[in-house]
Amino acid sequence: EQLEQLLEENHEIISHIKDSVLELTAHADGQPAPPRRDNGSWALPPESRPSFLAVSPQDCQFALGAKGESPDLQMLAVYSLLPFDNQDGGVWKQGFDITYEPNEWDTEPLQVFVVPHSHNDPGWIKTFDKYYYDQTQHILNSMVLKMQEDPRRRFIWSEISFFSKWWDNISAQKRAAVRRLVGNGQLEMVTGGWVMPDEANSHYFAMIDQLIEGHQWLEKNIGVTPRSGWAVDPFGYSSTMPYLLKRSNLTGMVIQRVHYAIKKHFAATQNLEFMWRQTWDPDSSTDIFCHMMPFYSYDVPHTCGPDPKICCQFDFKRLPGGRINCPWKVPPRAITEANVAERAQLLLDQYRKKSKLYRSKVLLVPLGDDFRYDKPQEWDAQFLNYQRIFDFLNAQPQLHVQAQFGTLSDYFDALYKKAGIVPGMRPPGFPVLSGDFFSYADREDHYWTGYYTSRPFYKSLDRVLEAHLRGAELLFSLALAHARRAGADSRYPLSDYSLLSSARRNLGLFQHHDAITGTAKEAVVVDYGVRCVLLHSLTNLKRVIINAAHYLVLGDKDTYRYDPATPFLSAVSCAACLMKCGHPRATPSHRFLVVFNPLEQERLSLVPLLVNSPHVRVLSEDGQPLPAQLSAHWSSATDTVPDVYQLSILARLPALGLRVLQLQKSFDGHTTLQSSVRLYLVGASALPHVRAAHCRATFTLQSLRCAGEEREQRVSTEFFIYGTRTSKDKSGAYLFLPDGEAKPYTPKDPPIVRVTEGPLFSEVSSYYQHVQTMVRLYNVPGVEGLSLDVSCLVDIRDHVNKELAMRFSTNIESDDTFFTDLNGFQIQPRRYQQKLPLQANFYPMPTMAYIQDTQSRLTLHTAQALGVSSLGSGQLEVILDRRLMQDDNRGLGQGLKDNKRTCNRFRLLLERRSSANKVQDGRPVSFPSLLSHLTSMHLNAEALVLPVAQQPALPALRSFASLSTTLPCDFHILNLRTLQAEVSREAALILHRKGFDCSLEDRGRRGLQTLSTNIPELVALGSLQPTSLTLMYPLGTASNSTNIQLHPMEIATFRIRLG
Ligand SMILES: [Zn+2]
Repeated sequence: EQLEQLLEENHEIISHIKDSVLELTAHADGQPAPPRRDNGSWALPPESRPSFLAVSPQDCQFALGAKGESPDLQMLAVYSLLPFDNQDGGVWKQGFDITYEPNEWDTEPLQVFVVPHSHNDPGWIKTFDKYYYDQTQHILNSMVLKMQEDPRRRFIWSEISFFSKWWDNISAQKRAAVRRLVGNGQLEMVTGGWVMPDEANSHYFAMIDQLIEGHQWLEKNIGVTPRSGWAVDPFGYSSTMPYLLKRSNLTGMVIQRVHYAIKKHFAATQNLEFMWRQTWDPDSSTDIFCHMMPFYSYDVPHTCGPDPKICCQFDFKRLPGGRINCPWKVPPRAITEANVAERAQLLLDQYRKKSKLYRSKVLLVPLGDDFRYDKPQEWDAQFLNYQRIFDFLNAQPQLHVQAQFGTLSDYFDALYKKAGIVPGMRPPGFPVLSGDFFSYADREDHYWTGYYTSRPFYKSLDRVLEAHLRGAELLFSLALAHARRAGADSRYPLSDYSLLSSARRNLGLFQHHDAITGTAKEAVVVDYGVRCVLLHSLTNLKRVIINAAHYLVLGDKDTYRYDPATPFLSAVSCAACLMKCGHPRATPSHRFLVVFNPLEQERLSLVPLLVNSPHVRVLSEDGQPLPAQLSAHWSSATDTVPDVYQLSILARLPALGLRVLQLQKSFDGHTTLQSSVRLYLVGASALPHVRAAHCRATFTLQSLRCAGEEREQRVSTEFFIYGTRTSKDKSGAYLFLPDGEAKPYTPKDPPIVRVTEGPLFSEVSSYYQHVQTMVRLYNVPGVEGLSLDVSCLVDIRDHVNKELAMRFSTNIESDDTFFTDLNGFQIQPRRYQQKLPLQANFYPMPTMAYIQDTQSRLTLHTAQALGVSSLGSGQLEVILDRRLMQDDNRGLGQGLKDNKRTCNRFRLLLERRSSANKVQDGRPVSFPSLLSHLTSMHLNAEALVLPVAQQPALPALRSFASLSTTLPCDFHILNLRTLQAEVSREAALILHRKGFDCSLEDRGRRGLQTLSTNIPELVALGSLQPTSLTLMYPLGTASNSTNIQLHPMEIATFRIRLG
C-alpha cells in the first residue's frame, strides 16, 4: 500500500500531466491582450539571437558515407531472403539432419571446450536477495572449494552484482583463493557488467554505466579485466552491445536468443560465427568476433549437439534420484569403466555434428543452466563424469579429438590460434555481419515482442532515474572540483559519493533482462521499485543534485555551510506548495528558484512551476522580467484545483548550468500572460485547432502544418485495441500473440475536449475513459517550438486481455519501411514483412521511430521504451500498455495484472526533406537530423526546478555556467563520473559525437550549429587521458589540449583530473 502511494507520488513527478490553462481575466484587470498575428497565432517579442546556425558541409559527409566494403551478411537482406517456413528438422526440430565423414578430423583434430556456467538472474521469480541467499552464495562458495580440487576444472561468471555481494561476505582467505583461480585461468569473469542487460529497452547511458560499474569493481577487487562477452539470455540482441564491448577492448562475444529461422540459416551456411560490424562503420574498426549458439536454449540438452534427447543424458545433475530429470525420457547414466566407451562415442557424435555448423575445428560446448552448481554434489557429478569422458576420448588417438574443460576465452584463444591471428583480428574466411537480432521468436509464431511494452510504468521510471543519475554525476563532479579549487572541500558533503555509487548500482540492476523488460514476478517488481528506484535512489540523487547546486550558485563560497537537516533547495516535488509553505500571510514578497539544465547546449525552454497565486511575475537574476504563461491546475476534465496555478516561464538556460530566477508577487500582467480555454463536451463537430508560430495543429491532429510549408501534412491519431487468442497460447509478459488486427478503441462516452490557447503554448486535452491525451504546441523560438508535445495518461486496469495502441496515420508514402532506434544510440531501418505474422513486425523503441518519403519525415520521439511498428504505408503505431491475465509459458508463471496509471510522453516532429533520393534511402543505415537529436534530448533531459528554501537571510545567488561556450550540438556529454570518493580528483569524461543527416534541414530554416570538435573548457580541465570505454586500458598518451577529435557516432572515454 505504501509502495502504491510512493509510486503514485513519483508518478506525478514524472508525468507533469496536470497543467492546462484557465481563463483568469477576473484576476487580471487592465491586462493588455497579448498580440496576435494575422494568422491567429500569438506573437512574442522577436528573439534577438539566431536559433540556428549553419552546418559546415564536411559535417554532413558522414551520413552520406558508404565508402567501405559492404558486409557479407546484412540482416535486412537476410530477412528478405528467408522463407520463415518452420519445417520439421527431425531430432533438431528447428534445424536439419547433420551428417559427417568419420575421417574429417584426421588431419586436424577436433578440439572441444566444455564451459561450465551458471545463469544467475539478479531478480526474476525471486528477488535479488532471495536468489542470493537461496542459491547464488552457495554456488560461489562451492565454486571456490571445488575448483581447487582439480586444476583442470573451469568456470565462468558474468553477474558482478551478485559476485560483489558475495565478496562482501567472504573471508580474506577465500578472496585470495578467488584471485588465484582467476589468475591461473580457471575462473573467468565474462562481460563483467553489473548484470546481463536487456538490449531492447535499455538506454546506452545505462548500458555503459553498468558495464563501467562492473569493470571498475573487478579491477579494484580482483585485478582483472574481462576479455569475452557472454549474453545467453537477453531476448534478442542489439548491435549497440558489440560496439560497447569492442570499445571496452573485449575481443569476442557469445549470443544465444536469436530467431530460430536465422539460426538455422546461419547454421546451414556456416555463418554462426562472424565479425559483427556497425552499420555506420566506414571501415572495420568496430568489428568484434561473435559466436551465435545454434540450438533452442543454453541448457545442457541444447548445447552438446543437435539431439536434446542425447545431450540431456550428459547433464549429470539429472542422474536418477535427483530432483530433475530428462523430459525426453532417457536418463543420464553415471560414467563407469564399463560404459565409458559407449557413452563417449555417443557424446562425440553430437560434438562432431555440432562442429559441422562452424568453420573452425574448435568447438564450444557450454555446460550449465539457470542457478546451477549450487550444491557440492552437483559439482562432483558434472566434473567427475565429464573428466572420465575426456580422459577416455583423449586417450584414443584414432578418434582425433581433444576434449577438456575451458573458459570462454580458452575457446576463443584456441580458435584464434588455429586461424593464425591475434585476438581482435578477423579470422581468415569468416564473414562480416551488420544489423541486429530483433525480433526474437523461440518457436512457431511465438514472438517476444510483448516485453517491449510490458510494465510501461517502470520503463518510464527507469528513464527518470537515469536522467537524475546523469544530472547528479555531472553536478557532483563540477561542484567538487570547484570546492577543491576554493579549498572548501572539507566542508562539502563528500558522503554524497556513496549515494551516487548506490544509485549507479541500482540503475544497473534494473537493466537486467527480467527487470526493465517487465518480465519478473509481481513481488520482484515491487522489490525493484522500492530498492532501485523510489525509496532510495531517486530521493538520494535529488539530494546530491541539491547539494551540488547549492554550492555552485552561492555568490560567496566562503559562506557555504552544509547542513543536512535544512537543505538549501528543495526538489521539484515540493514546488506544489511554493509560496504556500509556512504562513501564507508571512510569505515574503519574493522567492528564488534555481533551474538546472542538464543539456550541454544552451536551451530556451518553458520551465513549469506550480504557484498558489495568479498574481506573480518572474524576474531574471538581474531584475529583468521574463515572459510567463499562467494556467489553471486541473483535477479532472472540467474541474480546476483551487488556488493552484501552473506558471510556465520562458527562460534561457545556460549549457550544463544553473540559472537563478526570482518570483515576485505582482499585479502587473505585462509579462505574466494569461490564456483562454474552451471546453467541448463531445468529439466536436467543428474540429478545434491550436496554433503557434511554427505550426498549426487541428484536433485530433487531423492535420499539421508548420511554418514555411505550403503543404498540409495530415496526421491522424487514433486508439486501437488488441485482444489475445482463444487458443492455448496467449499473450503474456514476454509474448505478443494478438487475435488478429487491432480494433478501433470505442469508449462508452465521447471524449471531453479542452482547448487552451496562450501566448507561450496552446494545447488540446482529450479525456477518454482509458486514456487522456494532451497535445501541446510551443510558441517558442528554437527547438521547443518545432515539434508537438504529446502525452498520454493511460489507465487500463478495468480491461481483460487487452493491449492499447496509439496509431498515427499520414499520407507519407513510406511503403513497407520504417526506422527504430537501438538503445538511443543508433537507428536501425526496418521492413514490414508480409510473410511474418503481425506481432513479428514490432520492434523496440527506446527513444524514437520514424517513417519517411522523399518529401517528409515524421519522427515519434519517446521518453520511455515501448513497442512500435508500421503496419501500413504512412503509419506509425505504438503499444501504450498491456493487461494480460495469464502466463505465456516462459517460466514466469504469471500474467501482467499489476498495471498502473502511466503517463507516456512523446514529441512528434515533422520535417521536410530537401535532398532525399531513393538510393540513399535504400541503404541499411539512417540518421536523425540534428533537430531530431536535440528534440530527443529536450524530451529526455528536462530542466529541473529547485526552489530555494525559505530562510531568514538569503545569501547572494549567482547563475552558474560550467562551459565557457555551448558545445557543438552533435556532441553529447554522456557522463562526467567521479572515480572513487574521498579521494581521487579523477573523473571519467564520456563523450558521444552523434551522426546526423543534413538532408532534413528545411530551406525555410537555417541549420543547427556544429562548429568544430574543439571542446571548450570544463572547469579548468587538467590533462586528458584517452582510455577504453570502461577505463580499463589507456589509449595513446595524455594531453593538455582540449581539442578532441571524435568521429561521428563514436563514444570516447577520457580519464581527467578535475580541480
Ligand atoms: Zn536470465
